[in-house]
Amino acid sequence: MNLDTLCREMPKIELHAHLNGSLSRSTMLSLQRYLADLGIKDKTNVFINEFQMSSGDSKTLLDAFSLFTIAHELTSVPESLAMATDMTLREFEEDGCCYIELRSTPRQTPHMTHKQYLETIVQTMRNEKFSIIPCLIISINRSSPNDVEMITNLAIEYHRKYPDTVVGIELSGNPAVGRFSHFLPSLTRAREAGLKVTLHCGEIPNQQEITEMLKFRPERIGHGVCIHPNYGGNEEIWQLLCKSQIPVELCLTSNVNTKSTPSYSAHHFKELYNANVPIVLGTDDKGIFATSLSQEYRICAETFGIDPSKLVRLSLRACDYIFSHDKKKTLSDRILNFINKNAL
Ligand code: 5GP
Repeated sequence: MNLDTLCREMPKIELHAHLNGSLSRSTMLSLQRYLADLGIKDKTNVFINEFQMSSGDSKTLLDAFSLFTIAHELTSVPESLAMATDMTLREFEEDGCCYIELRSTPRQTPHMTHKQYLETIVQTMRNEKFSIIPCLIISINRSSPNDVEMITNLAIEYHRKYPDTVVGIELSGNPAVGRFSHFLPSLTRAREAGLKVTLHCGEIPNQQEITEMLKFRPERIGHGVCIHPNYGGNEEIWQLLCKSQIPVELCLTSNVNTKSTPSYSAHHFKELYNANVPIVLGTDDKGIFATSLSQEYRICAETFGIDPSKLVRLSLRACDYIFSHDKKKTLSDRILNFINKNAL
C-alpha cells in the first residue's frame, strides 16, 4: 500500500478541529447559495477566496483571527450552521476519520442565541446518521472574556443532558489577548462538572502563562509551539511538559501556514516525539489551511521518516487521549484490525 492510500485508509482520530475554520470551499459555496435562496444578505461573495492562509503568503497567526468572520457570516442562521456541521463531519468521514471531537464557540447572531447555536450543532451530531463518531468540545474565546461564565454554564448544562456528545471545553482565540487566570475559575468549575479540558497553549512565547496552564494539568493542550527551549520556551517549562505527560494536539500545516513554525522539518513534532511526550495529529482549520487529516499524517511520515507501522500506531495511541472514555475500546479495536489486516 503506498503512503497516500495508507494515510487515507487508516482509521484516524481528529481531536483538534474548529468548526468554522474547517469549512471547505465547496461547503462555503453551498452555504452561500443556501443563504442567497433564503434572501439573507450575505457579504461573503467576494471574500470566500480570502479564506485561506498558505506558507507562501505574508499572513501570520494573528491575521487568522480576522478570517474566521468570513465563515461566521455563513453560519449565522441555524439551518446553515446545521448544514456546515453536517457537511464538515462528512468530509472528515470521507477522509477516513472514525472519531472526531469537533470544537466550536457558541455565538449569538441576529438569527439565533448562544443556546440555539449549541443546540443546533448538538442535534445535528445526534440526529444525522454518520459512520464517524462525532463529539463536541465547547470553545471559549479569549477575546470575549465577558462570555466565559455564560458559555461555561451552557457547557455544563449540555454535558449533563448529552454526556456522550458534549465531552469537553477548551480555551482558544487570539493568544495575544487576555489572561489565562481570568478563565481559570470557570474552567475549574467545568472540570468539576465532568467536562474534560484542553487549552491552546504556547502558540506565542509566554512562559508565565504556559507554566500556569501546565500546572492546571488540562487533559490535553493544543499546539505547544513555544515550550521547548529551541522554540521560545525554556528548560523549566519543557521539563514540566515532559513530566506531566499531558498529550499535545499537533497541527503541522497550521503552524507552518501561520508562520508559527518556519518549515515542516523545523516543527517541534520531532522534539516531542523523541522525548516520548504523548502527541496526536490534528488539522486545526482544514478549510483555511487547505489540508485534511490524512494529508497531515502523510506530511508527518515524509518529513520525519515515520514508517507505516509507527504512523498507524500514532493513530492508535490517540485513542488513549480522547475525551469519551467509553469509546476507547471500540476505536482501538478498529485500528488494531486495520493493523492486523495490513500486517503493519
Ligand atoms: P469556531 O469556534 O467559530 O467554530 O471556530 C473558529 C474559532 O476558533 C476562531 O474564532 C478562534 O477563536 C478559534 N481558532 C481557530 N483556529 C485557531 C488557532 O489556530 N489558534 C487559536 N488560538 N484559536 C483558533
